[in-house]
Amino acid sequence: AVEIRGVHKLYGSLHVLHEMDLVVAPGEVVCLIGPSGSGKSTLLRCINNLEKIQAGVIKVFGELIGYRRAGERLIETTKRETCRARQHVGMVFQQFNLFSHLTALQNLIEAPTRVQRLPREKATEYAKELLGKVGLADKHASYPAQLSGGQQQRVAIARALCMRPKLMLFDEPTSALDPELVGEVLDVLRDLANNEMTMMVVTHEIGFARQVADTVVFMDEGRIVEQGPAAQVLDSPRHERTKRFLERVS
Ligand code: ATP
Ligand code: MG
Repeated sequence: AVEIRGVHKLYGSLHVLHEMDLVVAPGEVVCLIGPSGSGKSTLLRCINNLEKIQAGVIKVFGELIGYRRAGERLIETTKRETCRARQHVGMVFQQFNLFSHLTALQNLIEAPTRVQRLPREKATEYAKELLGKVGLADKHASYPAQLSGGQQQRVAIARALCMRPKLMLFDEPTSALDPELVGEVLDVLRDLANNEMTMMVVTHEIGFARQVADTVVFMDEGRIVEQGPAAQVLDSPRHERTKRFLERVS
């Protein structure tokens, strides 16, 4: 589903991703862990074409991200092509980023009606179904300010799902939440994972990663230090740096 080969990312002279190689199979759940500044967010942003890479190739469901092929050459994609590729990818951030002047339901149908030009009734029907799935059937008329952090984040997830993505990227989706609200959001992620959604999740919730991830990737200083089955990386890490990191966070 996702292919990352030899990817380098620089911000000016700051080299933040080095020679990244990672393959995510359809339906696989990958958790990305690692210290602050190790490049986890940058990697997700590159996959979603929010950042340009300086070397290497990223493919999402066979589509080259950021470039298209013209014979031997790679040509940077236009805005329009970028938009099309991104339609298959849903992203959820630490901050919920809901439109504050729109209700939960209006937040959900905004993109499907504007970008995908879905008829309003169709979009509304699906949006209500998704709000039900994240446990917010009774909240569709609420504005973000009237919802708890956990509820807002669940609306944000439902909003991403409204575009029927094939890949979901989560960047610390529970980090901004009060501890007692973390569980309800992780439950939604768990549900998605059980329904074969392909997911990449940056998280500090090691317990969640152990339960839900197929693969855990440990990053440090812009490199993948180790990757493998969740139990192996989390319970018997091969590298000293992974061990030290896990001791600190758990
Ligand atoms: P955290 O756990 O704190 O979220 P992270 O692993 O997500 O960290 P990134 O946000 O990907 O780390 O940052 C990786 C490196 O890139 C850091 O050194 C950061 O300062 C730098 N960086 C991130 N975004 C930019 C930017 N827009 N311009 C310049 N440097 C950036
Ligand atoms: Mg980050």
